[in-house]
Amino acid sequence: MPLRLYNTLGRTTEEFKALVPGKAGFYGCGPTVYNYAHIGNLRAYTTHDVLVRTLRERGYGVTHVMNITDVGHLSGDGDLGEDKMLRSAVERGKTVLEIAEFYAHAFFADIDRMNILRPGIVCRATEHIGDMITLIKRIEANGYTYSAGGNLYFDISRFEHYGDLGMLQIQNLKAGARTDLDQNKRNPGDFVLWFTKSKFENQALTWDSPWGRGYPGWHIECSAMSIRYLGETFDIHAGGIDHVPVHHTNEIAQSEAATGKHPWVRYWIHNEFLILDREKMSKSAGGFLTLQSLADAGYDPLDYRYFLLGGHYRSQLQFSWESLEGARNSRKSLLDRIRGLGAKPVQPGAGSPALARLAAFHEALDDDLSTPRGLAELWGLLRDNTIAPGEALWGLLQMDRILGLKLDAAMEPVPGEDPAFAAEIEAAITRRAAAKAARDFALADSIRGELKEKGIVLEDTKTGTLWRRG
Ligand code: AMP
Ligand code: ZN
Repeated sequence: MPLRLYNTLGRTTEEFKALVPGKAGFYGCGPTVYNYAHIGNLRAYTTHDVLVRTLRERGYGVTHVMNITDVGHLSGDGDLGEDKMLRSAVERGKTVLEIAEFYAHAFFADIDRMNILRPGIVCRATEHIGDMITLIKRIEANGYTYSAGGNLYFDISRFEHYGDLGMLQIQNLKAGARTDLDQNKRNPGDFVLWFTKSKFENQALTWDSPWGRGYPGWHIECSAMSIRYLGETFDIHAGGIDHVPVHHTNEIAQSEAATGKHPWVRYWIHNEFLILDREKMSKSAGGFLTLQSLADAGYDPLDYRYFLLGGHYRSQLQFSWESLEGARNSRKSLLDRIRGLGAKPVQPGAGSPALARLAAFHEALDDDLSTPRGLAELWGLLRDNTIAPGEALWGLLQMDRILGLKLDAAMEPVPGEDPAFAAEIEAAITRRAAAKAARDFALADSIRGELKEKGIVLEDTKTGTLWRRG
């Protein structure tokens, strides 16, 4: 079955067809580094990771690009509010660049801990101002801009496809928007490409440009950097669902207005929100959970990864400590069972049921990245006692190439545990099997009892005896 993805552009699930066979260009909007990532943000990056890993398993050479926003992102996506970086710098008594450095570092530490693969290309907005200026010049030359109050605006009424992604009605935008906030705009949906008249007197970072000294609007960085690294048309662009009506809609308008090419991006992937207390979790609303808050409460970052994989990326996911606890328990019993297999991975021969299980797993992921079904297939493989332990282990490790749960760690000795311990249990299991074969059930039972006292539970299957910590 081919890989199928739900494309927000058109709202249908489509077969993924790469622009260049065997290659996939992917841009995922990255963090604004004014604070720690919250656990909702990490849902977005986990979704990107599952997508990238699935593409790679399917044999695509993936170029994964992610930006780091260190300038221009205001607290409101539509040019409203304060500059997020500046506010954070003032609050913490640091420079904007110090803030960016600190939180970018913290971000990568978080994604590493969640086993999210680092993108091949990570690009910072402040290092690509030249690309942004070049792109804005092209947009201007094509007649999509106007200057007002010292800023350069994008005129959405000039762009035919504006609102296609969000299925927005421009008339409604006009009627519903708050015109009082930026009197320079001809249409409330218009947005800033370049600010020179900043409402922030103390604007920290500014650059010379054909429109005066100033700084870029937020949306232009993603258009400029994705085009630089992936070309004027590329395969996949992703971000959280909140980006559909403004940020991604504006990215499309800018990019297509500059290049004249339509469509700029072929597949748009959006993850739904992680919900906390029924409210969208947001960094700027204050009081949010970070990966470190989960770690401080005793959870492993991979417990959180397991929790996220249990929901489909296009469904809202309600966070609660109870469900995180459930994920931790499931992951623990998963690791225990893997340890209990007590085998080395063995590649199954043709016709092995392990291969059928793996195929079902891949089918689930190919079906718009269904990680909940993928996890169910993983457990199905583990519980299938017609599969030899070594083959089961091999299958699990294959699945983990996409799930990223570090299952191979379960095959290493538990830290602090005597490495001879597992060998001792295996030897006891062998003695018990011999006793059973000799119909000495009393001895077999006493061996089981001895192991139980050591906290080890045995489970007899058709292919042998498994052990786990009870
Ligand atoms: P930001 O750092 O605010 O630019 O957001 C980074 C990414 O996280 C974007 O793709 C957002 O759409 C996404 N995002 C923000 N809040 C949530 C949430 N509660 N659940 C899932 N994704 C989110
Ligand atoms: Zn973006």
